[in-house]
Amino acid sequence: MRYEAVIGLEVHAQIHTCSKMFCGCPVVADTGDVAPNIYVCPVCAGMPGVLPVVNSRAVDIAIKTALALRCDILPTNRFARKSYFYPDLPKGYQISQYALPLAADGYLEIDSGGTRKRVGIRRAHLEEDAGKLYHDGRVSRVDLNRAGVPLLEIVSEPDLCSADEARAYGEALHEILVYLEVNTGEMEAGVMRFEANVSVRPEGSELMGIRREIKNLNSFRALRDSVAYEIELQSAALESGDTVEQETVGWDEDAGVTVPQRSKEFAHDYRYFPDPDIPPLEISRKKVESLRGQLPELPEAKRARFVVTHGLSAYDARVLAEDRAVADTFERVVETGVDAKQAANWITGELFRLLKGTDRSIGELDLPAAALAELIELVSTGLINRSTGREVLAEMVSTGRRAPEIIEARDLTQVSDIRELRGVVRRTLDENPEQVQEYLAGKRQVLGWFLGQIMRATRGKANPQIARELTEKELENRRDQ
Ligand code: ADP
Ligand code: MG
Ligand code: ZN
Repeated sequence: MRYEAVIGLEVHAQIHTCSKMFCGCPVVADTGDVAPNIYVCPVCAGMPGVLPVVNSRAVDIAIKTALALRCDILPTNRFARKSYFYPDLPKGYQISQYALPLAADGYLEIDSGGTRKRVGIRRAHLEEDAGKLYHDGRVSRVDLNRAGVPLLEIVSEPDLCSADEARAYGEALHEILVYLEVNTGEMEAGVMRFEANVSVRPEGSELMGIRREIKNLNSFRALRDSVAYEIELQSAALESGDTVEQETVGWDEDAGVTVPQRSKEFAHDYRYFPDPDIPPLEISRKKVESLRGQLPELPEAKRARFVVTHGLSAYDARVLAEDRAVADTFERVVETGVDAKQAANWITGELFRLLKGTDRSIGELDLPAAALAELIELVSTGLINRSTGREVLAEMVSTGRRAPEIIEARDLTQVSDIRELRGVVRRTLDENPEQVQEYLAGKRQVLGWFLGQIMRATRGKANPQIARELTEKELENRRDQ
């Protein structure tokens, strides 16, 4: 018997608004060096007698995200209390949405082995994050800085069929969230967390198998590996005639296995009911349409447009569209009239290499698109050669100065003057008679060595094409002498 997997994902994404979901405390990135319990007030600490107030910015961002996921926005939302008892939840309930969520019935397209696949989005709703527990020997501590941070929970249909598809879905969703600036996308900081529901069934069966839920996955790799592990495990169980137990499990990254979580502690009856402290949230069509109008072009559409209107390869389009700031820089460079392929090469090649070294993102550089365009033009018109161009770009990135200024100050203008270059070539050949003989005896690679010497003599300024032609010609001349 062969088995097929059925997977549905629940994703929790933090929404990085200025303040928390129901109080005025700031939302602060979990960098690990923030002192515990400093961004806490009576509301998010769950003191009696306080009243939550809905953060309308968080609602707007959630609506935009749901629209990007092609969801319908429900005209009336209700917040509900989800009761459970755990020390990271000060009120004893989490404010979430249940019967009337923010949005429903959307989809997200993913790449599945080269073809596009539509994955249904069942619902998306707003809720608040819980605090964080620290365990230190026999002592446990709670930090409520994160308690009350807005979360958008996005629940997929069970449309995914493999561990790779689950990962592709996670990545596609991550890309959209970062594009819409919902959060920073830093998975290590827990801004996006996955839960995977996995079941298997005999191939071709219409019935759904019994699912197991893997909690708290913090990376794409953990998502893919844990799902792959569960598919194997469950298929093997069915194969040997066992049944799969419905269970909630965690992922032990080091051991590469899922581990059951104590079911007693996690066997919930959440006793959902509408939160009487928060009035129903009415969302007008007008508001939805105005937010729809604010949506930026999404990565998928951008990639397609880069291929069609700028003639880029699918690969270049993908690399450039991955980051919104990179894509914007590219387009602004092209707008100045620079050839699109040239612009793509400089950005994905040289600029990315420099960024890696500086640990900064393109938006953090003091490098206006106009300055980058200017540099590319100076190289393509031949004022400086390509390798000097690279050096100049590095200096632009580190100092914020413009290319012409750097070229002028360092006297880097390319030498294309034939007379001048011929002089350098002749001198170089005169000084290296042995290498000349080697070349003439058939060792063609000596040409590259000569060009290196010529570049050194001109401090990198020689026009490489002209230098190469002159050197070949001069070498041949010496054959006849
Ligand atoms: P909950 O986990 O709160 O009970 P749901 O029953 O709505 O919520 O399901 C949550 C997730 O589980 C959804 O993403 C859904 O697609 C997925 N799911 C439901 N049934 C199955 C199944 N038999 N196999 C795999 N995934 C499933
Ligand atoms: Mg669930
Ligand atoms: Zn607060």
